[in-house]
Amino acid sequence: METSLLETFLLRAHQQPEWSVLDFERKRFSASALAHHVAAFATALARQGLRPGERVALFLENSPAFVIAYLGTWHAGGVVVLVNTQYRQVELSHILSDAEARVCVTGAAGAAELAPLKAQLPALEWLVAVEPPTEPAPWPTLDFESLLTTAPEPAALSLPRGDQLAVLGYTSGTTGRSKGAMMLHRNLLANVRAVTEAWRWTSADRLLLALPLFHTHGLMVGLHGTLYSGGSVDLRRRFAAPEVLASLHEDTSLTMFFGVPTMYGRLVEESRRTGVRSRPLRLLVSGSAPLSPQLFEDVAETFGQRILERYGMTETIMNTTNPYEGERRPGTVGMPYPGQEARVVDVRTRQPLPDGETGEIEVRGPHVFAGYWRRPDATAEAFDPEGWFRTGDLGQRDLDGYFRITGRARELIISGGFNVYPREVEEVLAQHPGVAEVAVLGLPDPDFGEQVVAVIVPRPEVPTAAQELVDFCKDRLASFKKPRRVVFVESLPRNALGKVQKHVLRERLEA
Ligand code: ATP
Ligand code: MG
Repeated sequence: METSLLETFLLRAHQQPEWSVLDFERKRFSASALAHHVAAFATALARQGLRPGERVALFLENSPAFVIAYLGTWHAGGVVVLVNTQYRQVELSHILSDAEARVCVTGAAGAAELAPLKAQLPALEWLVAVEPPTEPAPWPTLDFESLLTTAPEPAALSLPRGDQLAVLGYTSGTTGRSKGAMMLHRNLLANVRAVTEAWRWTSADRLLLALPLFHTHGLMVGLHGTLYSGGSVDLRRRFAAPEVLASLHEDTSLTMFFGVPTMYGRLVEESRRTGVRSRPLRLLVSGSAPLSPQLFEDVAETFGQRILERYGMTETIMNTTNPYEGERRPGTVGMPYPGQEARVVDVRTRQPLPDGETGEIEVRGPHVFAGYWRRPDATAEAFDPEGWFRTGDLGQRDLDGYFRITGRARELIISGGFNVYPREVEEVLAQHPGVAEVAVLGLPDPDFGEQVVAVIVPRPEVPTAAQELVDFCKDRLASFKKPRRVVFVESLPRNALGKVQKHVLRERLEA
């Protein structure tokens, strides 16, 4: 039995060298070519002195270089640190110093961004540049393309054991400073097996992937699934609705598309504007943030396809999924994947709750990470003695087993002793024609403990007074849920995945 995804990929590449695994901007990579590059890169890292267990940061846009450096780091026994390409100095210095990355693979813009951090990153010894730096970097810098000409040396290469660290995945920082989730090779392998089985993913599949590879959704679902199943991936540098829609319309080889709700929203808009429609694909998947039932219906109407919504996170990759066969229920994230468990517990007593009641979702299984990197405090807090991982997400299970996510445990507002779930209020406000975007949060209140505050991005063409929005809620929700304060803003702070960062909003409102 294989012990890592790398081993599975290399075995298959050996058996089927012509397997066409990756396309990017009109360049096509066969499995044997990719495997050769991976071995060359790994040999070069080992020659440079990278030792097993040392960290290699990837601060890179989507490209074949990303895939080669990712698998190549494993083949050298190293650990990959994933870095969001939108990160700037504060986040970069936090992640690279926390991970003690010894090497960073990056582009010209990345090298320029890193340069001022030289003094803060004593562990960082060299860079690998996928494009020529615009100015000399303050580290020895190796050229990626030249490294690929290294003759692979079997003695320099290793195949990871299942319990070896594969990836430090930093959480998105939606609820605070991002933490490094320690993913072992066996976690990755267990989850990709579960995902490919649940979605009937085979070597006949071809995925259009425009999600960032530095994040779980693109990398550990999109890329891993392709490598594991023997399918192929049409990788895009970034998401652009017109191009993606054109491909979904024209390219008869595509069978799957994965996206976040914002992408689906843009595709629907683009399709309505231009009249271009997607061909029916085998599978459309949404995740990373809640997909509104409205958008589910819009996609069903525009694309003739019911999206399969699933729920995952950096620490556990994929947790639950709507069924491939059977009802895909809007507003739900389905059931646990094969071989994995999920339950809902009372936030205070930590006892399992009956179906239909809201509490915190906990998960358990071979996909669950090994803990937060150098954060024993956060790790201890996150697990119960029986190995259940506290996801920090609130939700419930329907009587027939479908899970629903209703928000984040930390974002629960307790006002006058009543629980207010921000998402419920947000869904109501989003229906008002004057509201383009909305975020609801709790701020301290001397009388009620916390008060409900609605932050609104208005639609300029429909001027709306704050009181009108409060009344709109009062007509539709219990009175204690209505906002006590309405704040109008131009835009909401979002992270790279498009999730609203409420801790940033809170700081602004409290300032
Ligand atoms: P941080 O942990 O740093 O605050 P984050 O939790 O946003 O950031 P990720 O691991 O990227 O970081 O995101 C996982 C979270 O995304 C889940 O815990 C859940 O809140 C949310 N999520 C994922 N899929 C869905 C979905 N289908 N519906 C609703 N929320 C989802
Ligand atoms: Mg999280």
